[in-house]
Amino acid sequence: MRLLVATTNQDKLREIRGLLADTPVDLYSLADVPPVTDPEETGVTFEANARLKAVYYAAHAETSALAHTACGGAPLLTVAEDSGLEVDALGGEPGIYSARFVRPDATYPERFAEIYRRLAGIPRPWTARFVCALSVVQHGQPLFETRATIEGEIAPGAAGGAGFGYDPIFFFPPYGRTLAEVSQTDKLAVAHRGKAFRALALWLLKAHPG
Ligand code: IMP
Repeated sequence: MRLLVATTNQDKLREIRGLLADTPVDLYSLADVPPVTDPEETGVTFEANARLKAVYYAAHAETSALAHTACGGAPLLTVAEDSGLEVDALGGEPGIYSARFVRPDATYPERFAEIYRRLAGIPRPWTARFVCALSVVQHGQPLFETRATIEGEIAPGAAGGAGFGYDPIFFFPPYGRTLAEVSQTDKLAVAHRGKAFRALALWLLKAHPG
């Protein structure tokens, strides 16, 4: 079994490689297929965008040399995910637009500032969650899909230097810290991508033992 992890986000790729390290699959990334432009994320849900990306990159990979390399005919599956931060008091924003919030090239401190500007005057707790939807596709067909979340709050201020993206402002009450103040292992044990990719790892083990 071979699995192409189709993300251009290096932070996510690092997390996903760690999460799938113990599965019986050979992992590939977009660095193993010819360069291709990103698909337009036209879906209005995390699930739709995850599937759209998986279908797009699977079609690309299946026409590439990767699909034909001598790997004992091992099938090539493609997984893509879509994730983001939902803040309840902001009607779920930034949601599916998390990566482009404020401006596509905005820094995270700029994005944090905009979130705090909009939350000003709204009483805490500012409940929020990270969401991850993933889709595994082969020959245009979704084979496995799941969605996972981590529930928390927007912290009163950014804290911590680990993780990436919105981690410094995501306070996780059971840890009493933001996700940027804990180790990668502690983050993945409780966070959205950790849960979703552990579900995928179980499916891979069941569907393709050995
Ligand atoms: P996507 O690549 O279109 O799915 O956008 C995902 C965006 O959501 C990322 O670029 C981050 O801004 C945010 N995000 C997703 N997962 C996390 C996380 O684990 N920590 C912090 N931010 C995240």
